[in-house]
Amino acid sequence: MHNKSIIRLSAGLRSGDFSSVELTRHYLQRIHRLDKGLNSFITVTEEQALAQAQTADKLLAAGEGGVLTGIPIAHKDIFCTQGVRTSCGSRMLDDFISPYDATVVERLAGAGVVMLGKTNMDEFAMGSSNETSYYGAVKNPWNRLKVPGGSSGGSAAAMAARLCAAATGTDTGGSIRQPAALCGITGIKPTYGRVSRYGMIAFASSLDQAGPMAASAEDAALMLQAMAGFDQRDSTSMQQQVPDYSGTLNDSLQGLKIGIPKEYFDAGLDTGVRQSVEQAIKVYTDMGAELREVTLPNTGLAVATYYVVAPAECSSNLSRFDGVRFGYRCKDPVDLEDLYKRSRAEGFGDEVKRRILIGAYVLSAGYYDAYYLKAQKLRHLISQDFKQAFDEVDVIMGPTSPTTAFAMGEKSEDPVSMYLSDVYTIATNMAGLPGISIPCAPVDGMPVGLQIIGNYFDEARLLNVAHQFQQQTQWHQQLPEEV
Ligand code: GLN
Repeated sequence: MHNKSIIRLSAGLRSGDFSSVELTRHYLQRIHRLDKGLNSFITVTEEQALAQAQTADKLLAAGEGGVLTGIPIAHKDIFCTQGVRTSCGSRMLDDFISPYDATVVERLAGAGVVMLGKTNMDEFAMGSSNETSYYGAVKNPWNRLKVPGGSSGGSAAAMAARLCAAATGTDTGGSIRQPAALCGITGIKPTYGRVSRYGMIAFASSLDQAGPMAASAEDAALMLQAMAGFDQRDSTSMQQQVPDYSGTLNDSLQGLKIGIPKEYFDAGLDTGVRQSVEQAIKVYTDMGAELREVTLPNTGLAVATYYVVAPAECSSNLSRFDGVRFGYRCKDPVDLEDLYKRSRAEGFGDEVKRRILIGAYVLSAGYYDAYYLKAQKLRHLISQDFKQAFDEVDVIMGPTSPTTAFAMGEKSEDPVSMYLSDVYTIATNMAGLPGISIPCAPVDGMPVGLQIIGNYFDEARLLNVAHQFQQQTQWHQQLPEEV
């Protein structure tokens, strides 16, 4: 059952081939059997899942519900879930039970999904390898000595091992697309403002965006349909109509103008990954698309700019974790200052502390102009690069990540080399643009992601362009051994 697409699972549920309770049990058994070796879940909500599945079965029996009714999914543990621990991968929130649901959780529940549990992630979504989680590293199902990518590494690994039918993720600098690439699944980061951030624990508020991680573009379209749309509880959510994402999946790509940014094929790109991506682009020209070289001249500045803007925002967002209102509190504080200091020193991990320190520094009176203000100006230039490119082309294509999954421990002591795994994804967050990663030919048995970047609110086109590739190729259907 776990090899089927959401549409086929939904048809199976509707025709009575299996019930949602049976399907949910099937996934729960897979989690019990396979997740010890992967560590992709932080919390499994077995009882609640079976209760939701029963409700779904009743709806289905009455001929009600929609295509997602009764489909078991997993949420990244950054989304608040009422009555269920929401840890954000941190000791700070190890015992935090959210009093409310995030909009994403609420909307998907409203669409009838069954929540299997909460997936592992880098602490507060800071990382590219899922090694910074308080709950331990997640392993890549394709090779357990390698990382799954991050920060949505739990969702990506769970999806690659088919421990759920789909999952949610968030992407601040690449955290949906990069783990999707490294685990061989499909992940889309929508336009900033397309999906509500309400109830999604904030890392860098001007960059964070939620999106689906799925087996295919077709499945991602169904998930995004339920997740997207205006929410008055998120002041940056956009009043933009949500198109029918599934309705345009089969549009022809004849004459599609694809921009190839030369900066995304630089010396830092692994040769095998380059070949795989070039071969994928060839599939598009065979379908009638046209290639144009475009230039994104400020690409080289994106990572440095991001590591000023994102830490600045995180140092502000994470100031709420003070040991007073919620979250971890140190034992026997002697006074208020001791309470603040030790609660934060003991509750946060090293990478989070590094970001808070950098953020406080770049925002400080003496350095604000030199770093933060400068970074905001560069952010504008990075957005302008894309604006000019999209005057010429419909989509931009390149690699998602410069390499395939790297070995555990390989980069954890060297933050800069870790930060560079997002060189091709970060600029789109700086500009607020949507991007999707889809599997193309593996290199040495490890998955590779093709990244497709679109213009603002052009998710329908990205899903269409991704789906057409998946109609021509089988890469997205390949599964790791033991799965
Ligand atoms: N890897 C990047 C970081 O560590 C991006 C993380 C993300 O997108 N959440 O900040």
